[in-house]
Amino acid sequence: MGAESCSDSARGTGLPVLARQGVGIRSLACVPNSVEALRLGGRPRSATAATRREVAVIPKLAPGDVKGMAGTAVCSLERRALGKTGLVVSRICFGTLTMGPLQAKLSIKEGASLIRTAMDAGVNFIDTAELYGTYEYIREAISGRGGMHSRDRDSVVIASKSYDYTYEGMRQTVERALQSMGIDYIDIFLLHEQESALTLKGHQEALRYLARAREAGKVRAIGVSTHHVACVRAAAAMPEIDVIHPLLNRSGIGIADGTASDMLEAVREAHDAGKGVYSMKALGGGALLDDVEGSLGWVLAQPCVDSIAVGIKTLDELRMDLAVFEGRRPDDALRERTRQNKALIIEPWCTGCGTCVARCTHGALRIAPETGRAAVDTARCVLCGYCQAACPEFCMKVV
Ligand code: SF4
Ligand code: SF4
Repeated sequence: MGAESCSDSARGTGLPVLARQGVGIRSLACVPNSVEALRLGGRPRSATAATRREVAVIPKLAPGDVKGMAGTAVCSLERRALGKTGLVVSRICFGTLTMGPLQAKLSIKEGASLIRTAMDAGVNFIDTAELYGTYEYIREAISGRGGMHSRDRDSVVIASKSYDYTYEGMRQTVERALQSMGIDYIDIFLLHEQESALTLKGHQEALRYLARAREAGKVRAIGVSTHHVACVRAAAAMPEIDVIHPLLNRSGIGIADGTASDMLEAVREAHDAGKGVYSMKALGGGALLDDVEGSLGWVLAQPCVDSIAVGIKTLDELRMDLAVFEGRRPDDALRERTRQNKALIIEPWCTGCGTCVARCTHGALRIAPETGRAAVDTARCVLCGYCQAACPEFCMKVV
């Protein structure tokens, strides 16, 4: 498939039209709006700590800082058809978990600016979930230039997910997502953290609602997210499932029931069966940050992965990821700055209630008999931060 280019004025409508026409796009270059539109954070303000943090975390971009971001440059982010959904997505999907209240806690303005910058660089795919608490960031990012009916809405593919298993529960959740993001349809809605054919069966009613919503145009594609090889295999055999969002990294970190090879084989079969595949945790939730290029490169080299969701919370991470996805060599200083390891911190006021232990599907937590407090097995932890949301004492955080 050859490269296509789209003018700025075509950016909002070109992709969906091409997708509807069934045109496969392997590589598509976009001219960004303008250098000025890429500047982050707006005017520096003074006085508050929050403002000082905002300026510190997200400095303004220098023109031409990232290839494709200067007014006349052309980005080379590849785009691919996502299975048979008719959606065409950038190979990098902007994962919003890390910027939100479960992790970096960026302000809405900070997070939205980061998303906008990614969009201006050619990223057209954003991943969120009800659990992540990041709908407001997306709303702000896509409403900045004209609201939900603007061309910006149509030029971005949004995926969300939830744990609902009833018809009515899923209906309410989808409505909440639409309202919270200020949109009138969502591109992909997934069942969150599915494990097997059995758990999928237990979500039949939620799937029934999603199928109805797809018919009505509220949802364009239905999917599942999973850390389990067995679930990838089960979902691949279900005609109502359009998209699979599996955990995949070269070390197999976080795969609940197999190795990296097992997961890759299942993903390959699912992709061959026509499922759109966008993977997660290419960096092992942070455990593989010491070799971002090698870890992302391994997943990028898999033809069965249409897109890769990468959590982004700083401009440096965005720069680094764009460099890797565009096949450029990042400069050494940037590589060093992004080579930081994350960790799950458990504060000393943990009461040992065990709620987090039950929440962690990776078996990475236990109550240590010697302290009576939660303790993490770093070999199993994928640093998703989900346990943090469950802790009634607010004593867990991923940093
Ligand atoms: S311990 Fe917490 S952060 Fe680690 S995998 Fe389990 S839920 Fe995720
Ligand atoms: S949920 Fe919070 S308070 Fe309870 S054991 Fe886990 S860390 Fe401790």
